[in-house]
Amino acid sequence: MNSKTGQNRRSGAAGYRGRLAPSPTGYFHLGHLATFETARRRAREEEGILVFRNDNLDSRRCRPEYVEAMYDDLRWFGFSWVEGPDVGGDCGPYNQDERIAHYRDAWLTLCRLGYVYACRCSRRDVLNNLSAPHEGEDEPVYPGTCRPETFGDPGDGDSAPGTVSWRFRVSEGEKVTVEDGNLGTRNFVAGVDFGDFVIWRRDGLPSYHLAAVVDDAAMRITEVVRGADLLVSTARQILIYRALGLPAPEYYHCPLVRDESGRRLAKRNGALSLRALRGNGYRPSEILQMAGARTRR
Ligand code: GLU
Repeated sequence: MNSKTGQNRRSGAAGYRGRLAPSPTGYFHLGHLATFETARRRAREEEGILVFRNDNLDSRRCRPEYVEAMYDDLRWFGFSWVEGPDVGGDCGPYNQDERIAHYRDAWLTLCRLGYVYACRCSRRDVLNNLSAPHEGEDEPVYPGTCRPETFGDPGDGDSAPGTVSWRFRVSEGEKVTVEDGNLGTRNFVAGVDFGDFVIWRRDGLPSYHLAAVVDDAAMRITEVVRGADLLVSTARQILIYRALGLPAPEYYHCPLVRDESGRRLAKRNGALSLRALRGNGYRPSEILQMAGARTRR
């Protein structure tokens, strides 16, 4: 392990474990494809494997037709991943909605360790925290409205009516260094670049951050490939690894894919969805090229 960053160092190329962790909340576009393709390339370069995880916790937005399209698109582009008991404690592929007990255990551990407090603020923020913040800007620094003077175990909420979420308390001024395989060294300061963030929701679900950390650790992921819009989320997640005493993986953040006007792609860019491009007769290699070309712009 790198003692400065706490990030997991691989002992050899054969140990590389990457992952594909899409959320079936819409049809995928060139941006998703660029990230999947980078994950595939990294696993090949390192002679490692890819594990598949279906990040389907957002039951409002995850729909069966998107799940079907997710597998269909990935297979059409020739993606493959390992399945079976090798993948971790459970058999992969993982479905996050089947793993709530694991997230709950981690949340209760963080509560016991004094990292968590009950929060009555902003239901909308809480809902937004269920998914990775791909389609919006990063959340504002939490002003600390519900932050208590001292931190004990906040309990599971029945004793604190009005709780809408539980927040992870960051130590103001704590430095988080992300040694990124693509972007180099990036430094963040807790309390400045991001504040206390939602870790658990009143409705019994983890935030994206907690679920990602618990799963990446359980899947023994050595490198997380994700979009550069998640850099600050990575810094938050490194604090969860530290709190839980787990080694963080290495990271490789991909540049974002832009539309014609330079805005990063979102699921609203229907014309650049993989479905639409396939429907227009493009071949996989051509679509992959398009994703690469837009990334470099
Ligand atoms: N399911 C998340 C997404 O698609 C995963 C992001 C990540 O942790 O890399 O945005």
